[in-house]
Amino acid sequence: MEIPEEHRMIVETVRKFTEKEIVPLADKMDRENYWPGDLFPRLGELGVLGPTVPEQYGGIGSDPLAQVLITEELAKGSAGVALSHGAHSNLCTHNLHANANERQRERYLPSLCSGEKVGALGLTEPGAGSDAVGIRTTAVHKGDVYVLNGSKMFITNAPIADVMIIYAKTDPGAGSRGITAFIVESGFPGYSVSGKMDKLGHRCSPTGEVILEDCVVPAENVLGKVNKGVAVMMAGLDIERVMVAGLALGIAEAAFDASLRYAREREQFGKPIAHFQLIQAKLADMYTNIEAARLLTYDVAVRTARESRLRKESAASVLFAAEMGTRVCLEAVQIHGGYGYMLEFPVNRYLRDAKLLEIGAGTSEIRRLLIARELLK
Ligand SMILES: Cc1cc2nc3c(=O)[nH]c(=O)nc-3n(C[C@H](O)[C@H](O)[C@H](O)COP(=O)(O)OP(=O)(O)OC[C@H]3O[C@@H](n4cnc5c(N)ncnc54)[C@H](O)[C@@H]3O)c2cc1C
Repeated sequence: MEIPEEHRMIVETVRKFTEKEIVPLADKMDRENYWPGDLFPRLGELGVLGPTVPEQYGGIGSDPLAQVLITEELAKGSAGVALSHGAHSNLCTHNLHANANERQRERYLPSLCSGEKVGALGLTEPGAGSDAVGIRTTAVHKGDVYVLNGSKMFITNAPIADVMIIYAKTDPGAGSRGITAFIVESGFPGYSVSGKMDKLGHRCSPTGEVILEDCVVPAENVLGKVNKGVAVMMAGLDIERVMVAGLALGIAEAAFDASLRYAREREQFGKPIAHFQLIQAKLADMYTNIEAARLLTYDVAVRTARESRLRKESAASVLFAAEMGTRVCLEAVQIHGGYGYMLEFPVNRYLRDAKLLEIGAGTSEIRRLLIARELLK
């Protein structure tokens, strides 16, 4: 598939930045579980925090393919960086632009695109993950404000976020027709975040629980329309899924490159293990699976820019890429033998990081259900 020249330039810029600034730190950030405080402003300087946001608001006015390619390049260096970047640039900034009115765009987008402010999205709750419509957070209209009560679980960037899109029930008896999206600032009264959660992978990406206790949100911060939060949610789902597919792709490519290098260098029985056909078969399968995932992912990314409803296609891209990512990383550990099991080699990180993509942003099971539902309509 031909990547347009404009996109190749974006890839080149992000690749250089990743190799110089992220790769040298990636293992340390993972081991020490930290997010470098200046990383968002530096990504902002690079121009990659608003890939789909028009230039007038500080973005680069590109498309979902650019979002995917940026995510993939960052994920080759550190999946945690790509995850936090995706939560900021896609889940928050892209969705905000797609659903906000002019006042909201002008107020929030420039500082999100520059990295001065960090963005996030809060949908999941302790008791509502796959069943997103089952959220219990409420928003009660009082004069010119809404008062929010509830909590949001596993939220990427929560410990460092300044701006969060939060979903709450404005009509609890109305099911999916009673949910509204809000733009919530971390400084609003009644908003707090639990400590950083400790995770298996994506360890540098800060995850937290958001607590809303009589949190006061101006009524003008309703995103989209009251009780139409599911429309806001749905509007961003296709690009979110294909972006997560790009994340899986980046991790798998890093694991594959490391395996190819290692297979050439490591000698057993007097020759590099790359000479053994069982190792060659693994490399060939890894390559084939990555290429298949890449084609599916890029194809859906390009189509997402033109077509408004690619539910099964986007779910298929992330289902395939995420499961492919875990398989490829398992084989990468196997090719590295005992060294693959040691923390000093990055392949263990790739495997831990890859697994999340079968869970976060919708599990493999839910993706299969959704594809089947669309097929059987
Ligand atoms: C590191 C990390 C970052 C995250 N970041 C964010 C974020 O930024 N914002 C946000 O809102 N959320 C975020 N999430 C939440 C994520 O989207 C949810 O974890 C995910 O949707 C699954 O929900 P759950 O964890 O409650 O699992 P559950 O829904 O409880 O699922 C448990 C198991 O049951 C299965 N299951 C559930 N329902 C069915 C069914 N009908 N049929 C068959 N099987 C089913 C699931 O597939 C899974 O295997 C994040 C999660 C993680 C781990």
